[in-house]
Formats: sequence, structure tokens, C-alpha cells
Amino acid sequence: MKLALIVILMASGAVHSTAAQTPSGWRAHDLHRPRPTIVAPGHAAESVRPPSDAVVLFDGSGVAAWRNGNGEGAGWVVRNGAMEAAPGAGYVYSRQEFGDVQLHVEWAAPSPPKDTGQGRGNSGVFLMGDYELQVLDSYHNDTYPDGQAGAAYGQYPPMVNASLPPGAWQSYDIIFHRPRFDSIGVLVAPARMTAFQNGVLIQDNVAFWGPTNWLQANPYVVGPSRGPIALQDHGNPVRYRNIWVRELPEVPLPVLAPPPVGAKVPAGVLDRILGTYANGGMVLVISKTSSGLRVNLPEGRWQRLIPLSPTEFAFSSTAATLTSTVAPGGTPTKLTFRMGDTAFDLTPVLDPSTGR
Ligand code: MG
Repeated sequence: MKLALIVILMASGAVHSTAAQTPSGWRAHDLHRPRPTIVAPGHAAESVRPPSDAVVLFDGSGVAAWRNGNGEGAGWVVRNGAMEAAPGAGYVYSRQEFGDVQLHVEWAAPSPPKDTGQGRGNSGVFLMGDYELQVLDSYHNDTYPDGQAGAAYGQYPPMVNASLPPGAWQSYDIIFHRPRFDSIGVLVAPARMTAFQNGVLIQDNVAFWGPTNWLQANPYVVGPSRGPIALQDHGNPVRYRNIWVRELPEVPLPVLAPPPVGAKVPAGVLDRILGTYANGGMVLVISKTSSGLRVNLPEGRWQRLIPLSPTEFAFSSTAATLTSTVAPGGTPTKLTFRMGDTAFDLTPVLDPSTGR
């Protein structure tokens, strides 16, 4: 059976319902989603000077702290103490990379406004280069709620619309915690964000489903623990000023229930279970890593598989087991999945290239 490419395919039927579901229940970019209430900020954004422990990424004097996508100098324009997205110059990325941060950014949409919807004052602040807090001129400018100013793009609309008119300086104050993975790549804590726009809470410790994207919802993929802060060139000359960041100490990982204690089973016996098993639309792939067995789960996630005996295996962080039934030669003929009062069988999927 093929072991190199390990994916789960929740294709249809018994386990999964319909396609295009998202954790929110709304389709990404759904125009039918309720619009956040408009809240007028109490004051125009005041420029908040960086605290003494902040890393200043832009103080009005130049873009030396930034690069373009090729690692070369950022091609944005510095004018009147602001750095301005030069349409076509591409995203800019902080040269220094960060994990958990407090980030302060001030921005202003072009005035007079041009275009409508996503074409009006579009930019974005990306944490670790992957998680976008949307920048858009959302002052009397309708668009899909998960893409308006202050949205965790494509995932969470802002709690309220606290936008100021185009041309006015606005502030974002962001608290971001990076996603955390264990040593074999199991997601143990999603990325989280809290954000204020012009002093008004717009995101309250939301958990990202994965990196933000246009049109698609992608699962987490294990990556570096730090990444750049990026600003988006979306073809609109959005201006930025007074950008500073404070690195935060990492929050301790959540304490998980102790995993089951494994039995000592010879590796050759354990290897018998490796492979792909299916029951209707549910496909499980069991593979071997340097630290033991693992089983795929939906959305590209994994759990360790702990041997309790030569034929019984426990999931590391779900109260579920797999029991293999083997033929006299030791080849599995089926796997039985048990969790609570649920039990069903999966049968091996033969690899036509090897016949096993
Ligand atoms: Mg954007």
C-alpha cells in the first residue's frame, strides 16, 4: 500500500454530509450574511507611540525594515511620513519574523474613494504572512461581511463596523497567537486573534480555521514558528504609518489528557497495520514516522496511534480505538473503529501497483 502520500478523503456518504461546509456554517464570502452593525468610533485614530520594548517597523522615515516577495527592497512609496502601497509593487514583508505578537498599525484608505466593494481601498495586514486582518474602505461601501475592514478574511466578519471615512487615519491593534503543533505535526492550538479598530473591539480571540485565502478554506499545514508581518498590495494606494510590534511570550500549550500507555510490540508486527482502509466515504491512512504510528484525520490533521497489543491501537487524544483482524499470514482483513457506542469496519484498499 502507498505510504508516501497520506491524505484523508472524506468523499461522500456515510461520514460527511455535503461539500462546501465551513466551521461558521456560512459559505465563504456569502453576501447573504448579516452586515455588522455600524459603530462610530469615539474619536479619529490617534497615533499611539511605540512602547519602549516595541520593534518599530515603520516610523515614517523609510522602508528599510521591509522587503518584497523576492527578498529585495520594498517598492512602496514613502511620502509625508506614510508608506503607500504602490500598485503592482507587490506585498511587502517585514524582514524580521515573529510568532505571538501585539501589533499596532495605522492606515488610511485613498480619498476620494474609487471603485466599490473589494476594489475600494483594499489591502491587508497578514500575521506570519498567512492570516489576514482585512484592510478595506468599509465606510458606506458594501461587500461580503467576511471581507470587509476588520474581517479575519474569509472567516470572521468584524463584530461591528468601526470604519472611518476614506482619507482618515485608522488604527488596528492586534493580539495574535500563532498556531501550535506537536513534534509530529498534530495541531494542538489554532492561531488566534483579537483586534481593535479605532479602539473598538472587532475580533474577540477568534480561532482561525487555517491560513486565510480568497475563495478557499485551507487546513493548517505545519510550518515555521515565526513569519513576517505582510502588507497587501491589492492595487489600491492604501497608506500606512506608525507600525510597531511587541513580541509576546508564548502561551503554554494546553494540557492534554495523558495518552494511553502503549504495549511493546515488535516493529515487524506493527508494520502489518500500515496502509489505507476505507468504509464508504471514510478513508483512514495509517503510516509510520520516526516516533511511531499515526493515523490521518479530517482536514489534514493527525493523531498518534498507540499500540495496546499487536492488533489493538488507541488514538492519542481521542477516546477511540482501532482493532485489526488479521488473516493467518498476518495480513489485516479489516479494521474496526470504536468510539463510545459507535463501531464500524473499514477494509483494506489494495494498491494496484503492489497488489497489497
Ligand atoms: Mg485584502
